[in-house]
Amino acid sequence: MRARRVDARFAGRRAARAGLTLASALALAGAGCGSDGVLVSGRPHGERPEEVSGEIAWSSDDPALGSVMYGESPGRYTRIAYPLGRAWEQEHRTPLLAEDGIVYHAKARAVLPSGEIVPSREFSFVSRRGRARPEILSWTMIDVGWGDAHLAVGPGGKRILIDSGRPDHVEDLVTFLMDELDPRTPFLDVVLATHEDSDHIGGLVGALDDPGDGILERFTVGRIVLNEAPESITPELAKVLEIAASDSIAVTHLREGDSDTGTEALRWGEGIGVRVLNARNLVGDGVANNGSIVLRVAFGSFRLIAGGDLEAVAEARIVDDYGGADGGSFLRADVLKVNHHGHDDASSPAYLAATSPVVALVPSGSLEVACSAPARSVLERLFALPADVYRSDFARPVRSVPCEDDYGHVTVVSDGRSFEVRIRPSAALHHPPD
Ligand SMILES: [Zn+2]
Repeated sequence: MRARRVDARFAGRRAARAGLTLASALALAGAGCGSDGVLVSGRPHGERPEEVSGEIAWSSDDPALGSVMYGESPGRYTRIAYPLGRAWEQEHRTPLLAEDGIVYHAKARAVLPSGEIVPSREFSFVSRRGRARPEILSWTMIDVGWGDAHLAVGPGGKRILIDSGRPDHVEDLVTFLMDELDPRTPFLDVVLATHEDSDHIGGLVGALDDPGDGILERFTVGRIVLNEAPESITPELAKVLEIAASDSIAVTHLREGDSDTGTEALRWGEGIGVRVLNARNLVGDGVANNGSIVLRVAFGSFRLIAGGDLEAVAEARIVDDYGGADGGSFLRADVLKVNHHGHDDASSPAYLAATSPVVALVPSGSLEVACSAPARSVLERLFALPADVYRSDFARPVRSVPCEDDYGHVTVVSDGRSFEVRIRPSAALHHPPD
């Protein structure tokens, strides 16, 4: 077997193509200048960093899941940029979404079919935008311990909270939102609960015996979005409906097939397509999880699918009904919010094959609860795709050993042509002061 070797190159596009002849080489292409579409260059770490703008491009001999990892400290990567399209392409390119004028330390990376990770040498660059700031869609998996809470912000600044974690983690959620959003304008355009379970809807109302501490009472909320038909009216759902009535907040019950073209609650911003793939329990097993709202979000070429706590039996229904659409590509997702916290009763092989994500987001709090998730079996299925897995209790790029201090918020940012993952620590949420 040939030795795997990485030969990071910091030359022009032509040189990068020559690099394709190197066994398993990962070549980082550079040079170019001017308008939209330029390549960027970098210099090996330790040399004076070069200014780069526009795009990063790289290639590898072995088709592989490729990404560029970068951050402001050597060896500490907080941003991971992925090309759009499929994991098994040889030539990758991704727009640079970094802030202007910052020295970044970076390396490219490929995951071979064997699972072997082949990194390039580390290099440095100073970011310069080669074009106007792009319109951005962001999706953050918020670390709220055990539970789901996600914030989507559309290109025009619309704020959509998807699930809200458990009541006892509402302060974590509020802290994140006040940090993330302008505290002078504490409003959310839409709050959506995928289903009525406490670890998804609880933060909207907070502790039931403590009026006033939920999201609905502390933020100005434009609209509440619920699934079509809950399996039961949980105490949290009852309180949501009570607050909506008393505060005159509009409530929309989504139905399967609803989309941004006909449903105001799904209009997240210019260029964002949102479609509902599931909004009630159609499998008839009485399990609330299977009534979870499933969203397919499209922005340019970028695709994200998120489906609450959907279990395998309901995933199968979605694969049956949508798996063949668009020539079999309708369910393809660059980013998949993994169902049911990564439990083995979800993320079936068929669902993962149909969605085939490059990045998987798993909201979990395994260090806090006895029944840990994600399940090893689910992780193995994701790694086999191969997908990079990000967990809220382990916010690091893929395949390292979990460590207690790695709790974090994980944000996916896309300009419709590419996407990157940004990681922010949230350790304080799990380690309250003594
Ligand atoms: Zn849940």
